[in-house]
Amino acid sequence: MAKQEITIKKPFDSHVHLRRGATLRAVTKYTAERFGRGIIMPNTEPPIDTVEQAAEYKKEILSAVSGHSNILQNVGMSVEQKFEPLMTFYLTKKLSPKDIGKGASGDVCKIYAVKSYPYGATTNSQWGYRNILEAKEVLREMENVGMPLLLHGEVHLNDNNVEEDPYDGEKIFIKEVLPRLLDEYPKLKVSLEHMSTSEAVDFIEKNGKEGRLVATVTPTHLMYDRRQAFSGGYRTLLHMKPLIKKMEDREHVREIVKKGLPFVSAGTDSAPHPESKKFSSCCAFGVFNSPVALELYTQVFDELGCLDKLEGFLSENGPRFFGLKPAEDTITLVKEDWQVTEPIVTDEGVKIWSLCDKQHGLGNEVIHWRLASSL
Ligand SMILES: [Zn+2]
Repeated sequence: MAKQEITIKKPFDSHVHLRRGATLRAVTKYTAERFGRGIIMPNTEPPIDTVEQAAEYKKEILSAVSGHSNILQNVGMSVEQKFEPLMTFYLTKKLSPKDIGKGASGDVCKIYAVKSYPYGATTNSQWGYRNILEAKEVLREMENVGMPLLLHGEVHLNDNNVEEDPYDGEKIFIKEVLPRLLDEYPKLKVSLEHMSTSEAVDFIEKNGKEGRLVATVTPTHLMYDRRQAFSGGYRTLLHMKPLIKKMEDREHVREIVKKGLPFVSAGTDSAPHPESKKFSSCCAFGVFNSPVALELYTQVFDELGCLDKLEGFLSENGPRFFGLKPAEDTITLVKEDWQVTEPIVTDEGVKIWSLCDKQHGLGNEVIHWRLASSL
């Protein structure tokens, strides 16, 4: 019997961290092999909040992809077709309405969205507002020019500056912040990133609307719940914000992708960290998944019996929100078991471990789909 396979338009990653320097040079090809375009997260050090910084960062990403042109040719891509990084601003206190205008014009570097991190909640979130609602003038200008707001939707510190329970941060945001934001900015385009709770899923199912309120889902929140995150001790490799939640939350996240709603799309949130930071006593937030993300999404959709919804989720809904057409080229995945057995090693000799790694994952994890071109 012929192997089962699926061909879809080249996917679009609505949320990816590539970092800078040696990490960027090591990880970018894994995204570029699987995704035609990616919304590049701006929480580098320093954060990206001017068009000049974004232009320089974009150049660094493109040169990393060119450096891997052999690999790209092996998967049937020319250097020109390779990968388009779509740049974003970090919503720092420095970011002004003028910056939004410049970013929208695209004169120096086109800016596709602004990302909001709640102060203190995750990696390099120290430049963010404590409450998104404080950023009034910038939000008004984004509404005027039609620039989307990407939300790390968690409340970290409450109004009294007291830290909330990290398992409740998203729930509180959905209840107390998001409805107010949507009310106060009726034309703002908003994406709720990496949904992890039943509350987020219910809210999006009820209020989601193409071009107005959309949401993204990570492979990590589709695959795992906190029983696995705590199996045999805390699983550092699964440590991310929002934290992996209960089984019923995961089931909700799975149910919403199964519905094939036009306002739900893939955002891997692949977030590499060097081994020393990921496996330190205070392990860094973020799951590096770009070598396996596309494969895991396909696996979950297969398990759910909704492979017919995969292309919308991976390749159509994301670009449409950012005013872009789906890719014209395609990618093929085949149903075949494989494992991640090696870390990525940067040109400075630093190891970066991927989700599902045989040694640091849950133990002997097998992935059931793989890229046809990497066979
Ligand atoms: Zn992220």
